[in-house]
Amino acid sequence: MKQPRTLFEKIWDRHSITTNEAGQTLLFIDRHFCHELSFHAFNMLHGNNRMVRHPERTFAIPDHYTPTTGLEDKDYIDADTQALVENLIKNATRNKLNLFDLGDDRRGIIHVVGPEQGITQPGTIIVCGDSHTSTHGALGALAFGIGASDVSHVLATQTLWQPKPKSMRVTVKGKRPIGVTAKDIILAIIGHIGAAGGTGHVIEYAGPIIQDLTIDERLTVCNMSIEAGARAGMIPPDNTTYRHLKGRPFAPQGEAWEKAEEFWRTLPTDTAATFEREETLDATSIEPMVTWGTSPEDVIPVSGAIPDPKLETDPKRQTALNRKMEYMGLKPGQLVSDIKVDRVFIGSCTNSRIEDLRDAAEVLKNRTVCIPAIIVPGSGLIREQAEQEGLDQIFEAAGVEWRPAAGCSMCIGVNGDSVKNEERCASTSNRNFEGRQGRGARTHLVSPAMAAAAAISGRFTDVRKMGKN
Ligand code: SF4
Repeated sequence: MKQPRTLFEKIWDRHSITTNEAGQTLLFIDRHFCHELSFHAFNMLHGNNRMVRHPERTFAIPDHYTPTTGLEDKDYIDADTQALVENLIKNATRNKLNLFDLGDDRRGIIHVVGPEQGITQPGTIIVCGDSHTSTHGALGALAFGIGASDVSHVLATQTLWQPKPKSMRVTVKGKRPIGVTAKDIILAIIGHIGAAGGTGHVIEYAGPIIQDLTIDERLTVCNMSIEAGARAGMIPPDNTTYRHLKGRPFAPQGEAWEKAEEFWRTLPTDTAATFEREETLDATSIEPMVTWGTSPEDVIPVSGAIPDPKLETDPKRQTALNRKMEYMGLKPGQLVSDIKVDRVFIGSCTNSRIEDLRDAAEVLKNRTVCIPAIIVPGSGLIREQAEQEGLDQIFEAAGVEWRPAAGCSMCIGVNGDSVKNEERCASTSNRNFEGRQGRGARTHLVSPAMAAAAAISGRFTDVRKMGKN
């Protein structure tokens, strides 16, 4: 009888080529995504007189440095930034990669485009020189970020040496409370296990609430696995996954689809399989969440208050809390609902998909924002769909800036969209580190609905209490 295995173990075993004396495994890599910062790796590759080993498995998508106000030369923040984008396009063209070029409506944020195009498939190993590659695990792939020399190795060989991570299951029990989004669920999970809670592990998310999530919601959950320190996050493939993939441009077609689906159905974790670690969270306690500090683990419900560092007994942790409090310009005991917000950003690979935009539109409809707010679609196709549905008109009528070009935008503050020094931003992105959205920027992570609510009231507001619009 076969040993019961987890989804992660099945994918790992299937891709293992050999193991070295140091205990590392050489893995075959199915898909490799490259963005502007892959230039180091291309330089190494070309410096060794090599070309990309499997161009058909390699996808180049400029997203981090592309401006979202437009894609003309004048829209770039500076010449160096534009050169980074052009360099990626040059390297992709030279190596005959799958390029989602400027002006191509399919272009957008890598972690939005992969699942949208059907490039991300169950049972595959996907890598990219970007931490939030974990997003693709939402479709039952093993997907993780890698460094520049690893990117070069994958470009040259389509393989990668990796130590085997441990397995961990996070089960969300109970019913999903009304008004609680996938973003609130993953923020609550990170608050529960901590920013280092998943270190060295691949997390499999489980429980009826997770199974009931749409693909857009699953992508939000897996996206932030890295913020819990995990190597990757995964959700076993099921009918929701297959329905999402069917007919997508890069998904298998015809007979190949039948075969693929038959294989995908063997992937979910065997009932008798065990995980090296188990964590459980009760969903009934989850509310719309807001981060208050400079780590995604610094998260509290919108009904909560800023913690008091004096209550912390560990002196090191107390110093760290004081530092966060100072950077964020907050006071112990301050109610979250009393915190004024200066600007709002709805976008990023966490929350820029069509369902995120619909959530924001539902709150913004027939209302007006009182602070600057931008909404940036995750891909050109999402922009088109949102406009077909009239969401852009709702945004514009509310006074929100609807950006014409997809990209990472204000998530990272390197492309012209940034938050000013000491400005407070309600953001649907995934990182609230010091300076992430710009020097001195104060980032609070929230869901699209909560971000829209903050844009209307100018402070954090429980979106469930806003009433009908
Ligand atoms: S949106 Fe932000 S987190 Fe996502 S890939 Fe871009 S910079 Fe990274």
